[in-house]
Amino acid sequence: MKKCAGSGFTMIEILIVVSVIGMLAAIATPYYLKARERSHRTSCMRNMQKIQQAKELYAINAGTKANVTWSDILPYLRNLPSCPSGGEYKNWEIETPVYCTHHDWRNNPDYGGFEP
Ligand SMILES: [Zn+2]
Repeated sequence: MKKCAGSGFTMIEILIVVSVIGMLAAIATPYYLKARERSHRTSCMRNMQKIQQAKELYAINAGTKANVTWSDILPYLRNLPSCPSGGEYKNWEIETPVYCTHHDWRNNPDYGGFEP
């Protein structure tokens, strides 16, 4: 069997490759996390729209403007929406929009809301 002396990588080459991979990961990670949070926020906004539409449909069909509960609006939703970031949906008054405890757009301009 023939032995290949001197083939393979030196320690310096391996260290350079590992450091380049580390630098690329350090550059890409913040962009990944930001895109992930943006995706969660968009999904959460869609959930809030669905909940608000269900609240309004319930109000029209029930002929009431009283506060609603999950059980009231579940027939108007295909599935139970949940915030992908673990927030909780609040505000069960018919005429004011639902909001998420994690993506509280009402007082955060980053989420399309406004300063109080
Ligand atoms: Zn949320």
